[in-house]
Parts: sequence; structure tokens; C-alpha cells
Amino acid sequence: MAETKSPAAFDVVIVGAGFAGMYMLHRLRGLGMSACVFEAGSGVGGTWYWNRYPGARCDVESMQYSYSFSPELQQEWRWSELFASQPEILRYANHVADRFDLSRDIQLNTRVTDAKFDRTMRRWTVRTDRGDLVSARYCVMATGCLSTARVPDFPGIAQFAGKTYHTGHWPHDGVDFTGLRVGVIGTGSSAIQAVPVIAEQAAHLFVFQRTPNFSIPSRNGPMPDEYAQSWKHDYPALREKARHLRTGVLNNPNDISALEVSEQERRRIYDERWAAGGTNFMAAFNDLIVDQRANDTAADFVRDMIRETVRDQSVAELLAPKNHPIGTKRICVDTDYYATFNRPNVTLIDVRRTPISQITAAGIRAGDVEYKLDAIVFATGFDAMTGALLNIDIRSDGTTLQQKWDAGPRTYLGLMTAGFPNMFMITGPGSPSVLSNMMVSIEQHVDWIADCVAYLRAHGEDCIEATQDAEDAWVLHGNEVAHQTLYPLANSWYMGVNIPGKPQVFMPYIGGVGTYRDICDEIAAEGYRGFALSARAQTLAAE
Ligand code: FAD
Ligand code: NAP
Repeated sequence: MAETKSPAAFDVVIVGAGFAGMYMLHRLRGLGMSACVFEAGSGVGGTWYWNRYPGARCDVESMQYSYSFSPELQQEWRWSELFASQPEILRYANHVADRFDLSRDIQLNTRVTDAKFDRTMRRWTVRTDRGDLVSARYCVMATGCLSTARVPDFPGIAQFAGKTYHTGHWPHDGVDFTGLRVGVIGTGSSAIQAVPVIAEQAAHLFVFQRTPNFSIPSRNGPMPDEYAQSWKHDYPALREKARHLRTGVLNNPNDISALEVSEQERRRIYDERWAAGGTNFMAAFNDLIVDQRANDTAADFVRDMIRETVRDQSVAELLAPKNHPIGTKRICVDTDYYATFNRPNVTLIDVRRTPISQITAAGIRAGDVEYKLDAIVFATGFDAMTGALLNIDIRSDGTTLQQKWDAGPRTYLGLMTAGFPNMFMITGPGSPSVLSNMMVSIEQHVDWIADCVAYLRAHGEDCIEATQDAEDAWVLHGNEVAHQTLYPLANSWYMGVNIPGKPQVFMPYIGGVGTYRDICDEIAAEGYRGFALSARAQTLAAE
């Protein structure tokens, strides 16, 4: 049937109401632009709305994992722990939505299904699963890098008689594992946080591990008042400093090589960082991620710590990662993860040696053994970086984004992709995003996009598109920088390896948050070098 409905018109449509979509809306309002946000969830907060599994918390210190755009907000909000828990971060997201009156422009429980660009009108038409139809000059994809949860295609899942959960789709009213036999599949960051907490409740916990991960104790605890105050006192300067660092985290980097110091000194430094806790461990030396020999020193140290912590040395050996350099899969941060394997009610199962062959009505079969379970937790990760974008039918000039990215994502700066004008991505592939403090990267992208659309308006332009040449050069540069590091050596989701059939390219930009910011700023200052800007009026006159 012919379309009869006429679309509601906005300056900008934003997809997603996590921290990216929320701040984007706030900035656009400040420019006097009309915007509407569609969010699939029934609340704001994105990651922190969906990932309610036990133990979920951030691995960047709370004082840094928060918005910096409002001096009042960052002064008034009080974090109760050094590393905030998921419920507290979700409360923060809701507080921000209330404080800046964001909700009136956010339509919840609504998934965007299609987005189509009309080159003549220079507008995007967006459809949702609730039948909404909107037209907007610009479309901003704030869809998240880790928002498409993935359950591997294990045969027999449907016949399992117990309950199944994915960490990224956790029930809102929680799960009580008391007295149950529980299986957790996966040993990435989510599992490493969840396992110690589930182990305290479950009658027995079976952890199905394919690849062990390196994890550093968080040393989380209540937020000392003086510590919070010292941050608040210096917030503007500290935030500014973080924006120019490699990871966007003030992590006390030690600018010397691990190979420059004596073994004794190296050990002292690792001991100190291990005792202090958190991802700052990876800033112990400046070459851990680029030099295999330097990396080995850190990896050996963590393996030794695992052997010291876990009493049963055969379990310790299984838990000690040996097949990827430390840090090349996202480094994990935990509370008592390794020590949990000393509990009598916890069993580690090596599914590298004997892969899971089937989920049965009664549990999980791996090799010849059937593990009888009441509940299974899939901590099996996400179709990262591209999943949420490619779940939307995005089209321009008769081509879909899926077709364009058939061999892997291609973008200019991770912000735009050639052939899809007026569509921006926040923390898209090709930007530092998941390799950084995401709050820093989100704010940088949102500010850049807001400044860009303001510039277009001020200059009478209404269309911006990445040129093919600029995109090709950026992709080449991204690959070159990635291959100067050890990252491509790991079978990680950064490389798309966790999704069968996904093209294997290193997706984030590893050149560093500070360097990347300078490049973006320079490009903008040069009138958006590498982007083609135009106005409809000019195009019509030329025709
Ligand atoms: P998200 O928070 O993922 O929000 C995207 C939103 O878009 C989602 O709510 C989703 O429902 C919605 N959406 C997607 N597609 C559609 C569609 N088609 N239609 C409508 N809505 C749609 N980063 C850090 O820097 N530090 C951390 O400690 C940290 N911890 C993390 C812990 C977990 C468990 C996970 C999964 C990620 C973590 N991250 C962390 C990364 C985290 O994703 C970012 O920090 C940040 O929250 C991302 O915000 P976002 O708004 O870009 O995306
Ligand atoms: P993940 O890192 O992708 O881990 C998924 C786990 O599932 C891996 O151990 C993987 O093993 C395993 N797995 C997948 N398919 C399997 C199969 N068929 N059989 C057996 N095992 C299988 O996912 P995640 O733990 O959810 O973390 C994703 C990202 O979210 C993190 O890297 C991080 O960026 C973010 N996060 C951060 C925190 C935090 O500390 N703040 C917490 C959670 C998540 P293989 O490695 O062998 O594939």
C-alpha cells in the first residue's frame, strides 16, 4: 500500500539514549535545533540500563567516568564508591535526564528499523518498529559499541529446561541463584565481574572458559570524601588533561620502557600497581602494548599473581592466559575473581580442550560430560562496534551500509562514512571509542558533531559527506597504527573474531584519544578537510 503518513520533521534524529544520545540531545537543544531521540529500552542509560548482572560496575574510576560538560553537575553528584556500580551509574543517567529535562524528547520502547537518505531533499527518513516515521536533516547514530548482545548458536538452547540469561539483557528485578546449580559461559569482563557474586549465592557454579583473560584487582571501596573533593577542586584542569591522554584516563603513566629497568625495579613497579589496582596497571611502562618482550614481563607478573592466589595449581594454570599479549584483549578489572576458584562450590571447565557441543534439557554438554544445571548465564559478549548500526537498514543512493561494510567498517574519523551524507556516528569504528574512557570519547564526538552542524548552518550549507579519498586514507592510517601494536595478535572482539563470518579488521583507532582529538580539531579548523560540504540551493542552481 502507498505511504500516506507524512513524516514529522526535525533538524536531527538521534538513535539511542545512552550517554552519547543524551548529551547529543542536550547540545543540539543548546543550538536551538529540534531533535527527537528513539531508544529501544524502556529507560535511558544504554549500557547501564541493559547490563544489570550481579557485580556490574565500571572499570574507570567514578570521578573520571562521568560527564564533564556541566561544572554544576560534576560538583553536585556524589559517587559512593571508587568504581561505581551499575545501579549507581543508572541513577546518574536518570539524574542527568531529569536535571536537563531530556526525557520530553526521548521516545522509549522504540527501535529504529530503517533510515534512508534522500539526496534531493538532503534529509533522512527514519522508521521505527512502532510505526513512527520522521524526517530529519541529520541523523546521529548513538547506538552504542557494546549494545548488541550475542548468544552463540549452541545446538539445543531451546530445549534447556532451566532459565537462561545474557549479562547484557539482565532481568530488571534481578535473579536469585540461591540453592541453584549455575553455569556461566564466558570469561570476559562481564563474567569476571559476575562470577564472584554468583558464586556467593549459587549451590554450585560451573564456569565454562574458552580463553582465560588477564584481570587486575580493582581495589574498589567506598569513595573517600577527601579524594572526591580533591577531584572536584581541580576538575576543570584534570578533565582537560585527560582529554589529551592516550586513553582519556588519568592513569599515572610511567614514561619509560619495561626493558630499561632492572628486574627488581620492574617487579617493584608491578607490585605497586597491582596493590593500587585497576587498569592503571597497564600504564606501568610505555611499551607494554607495542613490544612483545616488554609485554611478556607484565603478563608473567600477572600469571604469577594468579598462581599465588589460586590454591589448586592445575586450576591456576588454566586461568593463566598464555595465548595473547596482556592488554590486547580488553584488560579486565575484578573483585576476588581468581580467589573465587578456591571456593569448594566453584568448578572451572576448560571448553577450549573440550568445546561445548550441546545445550541439553538438563544442562551443558562439553566433551563426554553433561553438567546438570538449573540456570545458564551467557556472558558471551556483543556484536561490537558494528552490530547495532548494521541491525538498522541504513540506505543512501540505493546502497545499504551493510553492503558498503561487507569487508569491514570503513569510516572517516569514525564519525562519518562516504556515501551516507548527514549521518554521524558517535564513537564509531575508526575512532578511539572502546580503547578509551568512553565518557571522554563520547563528549568529544558529540561536541565535534554539534560544532559541525552549527558551522553548516552558519555557512548556509545543509549537507556534509566524507569524501572517498579522505575515508580511504583514514582507514589506511588506522590499519598502519594498529599494526604497530600487539593488538592484532589477539582473537578479540576488537577484531570482530567473536562473530562467525564477521570481517576481521581492527575496528577502533589506536592512535590515542589526544592525538585523535587534535586531528579532528585540525580538520574542523580547516573548514572540514576531507568532507564535501554543500547547500541544496547551490546544487539546484548548478543543475
Ligand atoms: P550505549 O550505552 O550502548 O547506548 C546505546 C543505546 O542505543 C542503547 O540503549 C540501545 O538500546 C540503543 N539502540 C541501539 N540501537 C537502537 C535502535 N536501532 N533503535 C533504538 N535504540 C537503539 N566504558 C568505559 O569507558 N568504562 C567502563 O567502565 C565501561 N564499562 C562497561 C561495562 C559494560 C558491562 C559494558 C557492556 C560496556 C562498558 N563500557 C565502559 C562501554 C560503554 O558501552 C560506554 O562507556 C558507554 O556507556 C556507551 O554509551 P553510548 O551511549 O555510546 O552507548
Ligand atoms: P567478551 O569480552 O566478548 O567475552 C565473551 C566471553 O564469552 C569470552 O570469554 C568468550 O571466549 C566467551 N565465548 C563466546 N562464545 C563462546 C563459545 N561459543 N564457547 C565458549 N565461550 C564463548 O564480552 P563481555 O565480557 O561482555 O565484555 C565485552 C566488553 O564490554 C568488554 O571487553 C568491555 O569493553 C566491556 N565491559 C566492561 C566491563 C567493566 O569492567 N567495566 C564489564 C563488562 C563489560 P573467547 O575469548 O574464547 O571468545
